[in-house]
Amino acid sequence: MKEEVHIFGGGITGLFLAYHHVKQGNLVTLYEENETLGGVIGTKKEREGLVEQAANGILLTDDIKSMLDDIGLRPVFPKKASKRRYFWTNQKLSQFPISILSGTKLLYSIFLKKLKFDPNLNFEEWGNQMFGSSVTKNIIEPALGGIYGTRLQELHAETIFSKWNGDGKSTIFQEINKHKKETYGTVSFPNGMGDLVSHLVTYLSPKIKIQTGFTLSNLSQIQTLKGSIRICISLKKLIPVLGSLLKPEVIPNLLSISTITRFGETKLTKKPCFGVLFGKGEGIQALGVLCNSDIFDGRVKDGFHSETWIYPNLSGFDTKQIESILESDRTKITKQAETAKAIYKTTWEGVFPAYDRKLFLFNQTLDQIESDWQKNGLDIKCFGNYRKGIGLRSLFESTMI
Ligand SMILES: Cc1cc2nc3c(=O)[nH]c(=O)nc-3n(C[C@H](O)[C@H](O)[C@H](O)COP(=O)(O)OP(=O)(O)OC[C@H]3O[C@@H](n4cnc5c(N)ncnc54)[C@H](O)[C@@H]3O)c2cc1C
Repeated sequence: MKEEVHIFGGGITGLFLAYHHVKQGNLVTLYEENETLGGVIGTKKEREGLVEQAANGILLTDDIKSMLDDIGLRPVFPKKASKRRYFWTNQKLSQFPISILSGTKLLYSIFLKKLKFDPNLNFEEWGNQMFGSSVTKNIIEPALGGIYGTRLQELHAETIFSKWNGDGKSTIFQEINKHKKETYGTVSFPNGMGDLVSHLVTYLSPKIKIQTGFTLSNLSQIQTLKGSIRICISLKKLIPVLGSLLKPEVIPNLLSISTITRFGETKLTKKPCFGVLFGKGEGIQALGVLCNSDIFDGRVKDGFHSETWIYPNLSGFDTKQIESILESDRTKITKQAETAKAIYKTTWEGVFPAYDRKLFLFNQTLDQIESDWQKNGLDIKCFGNYRKGIGLRSLFESTMI
C-alpha cells in the first residue's frame, strides 16, 4: 500500500529521502523554507571556473551509482594523478608522515588491539592511547580535521565511529570489515555538485509535491498530519523546533566553517595531488586544501589552477585579512608568494555539529524522543549530518528504506 510521507527540509538529505520513498512508490510531500532546494550544496559558475559552496565530491558506491543512473547523471571520476594525498607535518609535505616504528604500532592497533571507547577522553587523548602520539598527531589529527571541521580535542571517537562496537571485544579491522561496502572513490559531476541537486529535483518534481517557502517552527504544526513525518532540516534549525524536549546539557555544539576557492597561475605542489591536510601546531590556520583542478577535469578556465582551502571559521575577518591568511598559509608550502587571480569565500555558521560527547548524548536523547513519539502513535523521525555521519554517502545510506 502507498504510504503518505511528509519530508521537511529540501537539502540533500531531504532530496535523498524523497528519492528513496519515490522508489518505494510512496506519496511524498517535500516542504522547504527557501525558494530553492539543495541546502548548502550548490556550485557557482564564476569567470575563472567552478566554485563549490559546500561538498566538492561524493563517495561513490553501487547504491549511489544506481541512483545516478535513475536521475540521468554521469559522474566525473578523479584524474589518476590525484591519488597522491599529502600531509603537512614538521614543516614539510609527506605522503606517509610517520616513522616505520610508528607505522608498525599503527598496524598493531588496527589488527590486534581491542577497540575500546572511553567517554571521558577526547579524540586526541584517546588516539594517543590507542595509536600512539605520532600517528595521532601526524595522521589522524590532519585527516579528521579536514572532514569534521575542527581539531581532535573537540572530537570524540565513539561519536565519529558510532557504528563500531567499542566495548573491547573486537579490533578496528574486524569492525571495518563488518561495515565494509565496495566504494569507487570520490566523484563529482560535469558542472559540479550543483548537478546532483538539479538532477534530483528534475527527477523528483513530477513524482512528488514540493512546497517551498514553508518553515517548520514547532511540532504542533505537524502532529496532525496523516502519514509519516521525516524531519531533514539542519541541526541548527532543529534544536529550537525540539525546544523543551532537550535538556541544556545535551544541546550540541555547532561548528562554523569557511571555504575559500582560490584561482591562481601556479600549482600548490610540484606533482599533482588531491590536496594537503594540515596538522595542529604547524603554523597553518587552514585545516586542509583541495587541489580542485588536479582532481577533476572541467573545474577551471584559461589554464588557471583552482584550490579550495578549508578554515574552521573566518566570519570575523574582512576579505583583505582572509586573503592575507590564505596567502601566508600557501606561501609556507610553495615558498614563493603569488598574487591570486581571484578568491571566493563561503562561510556557513553552525553548519554541522562538533562530533563530540555532547552529540553522542544528543543522539541518544533523540532516539528516546522518537521512540516516545512512536508510543504515542506519531511516526516522526529525524535525519541529517548529525545522526549517522557527516558526508553525503552516509546521508544517502541513512535515508535508505
Ligand atoms: C564546506 C563544506 C564542505 C563539505 N564537503 C563535503 C564533501 O566534500 N563530501 C561530502 O560527502 N560531504 C561534504 N560536506 C557535508 C555535506 O555537504 C553536508 O553534510 C550536507 O550537504 C548537509 O545536507 P542536509 O540536507 O542535511 O542539510 P542542509 O544542506 O543544511 O539542508 C537543510 C535544508 O532544510 C531547510 N530548512 C532548514 N530549516 C527549515 C525549517 N525550519 N523548515 C523547513 N525547511 C528548513 C534548509 O533551507 C535546507 O534546504 C561538506 C559540508 C560543508 C559545509
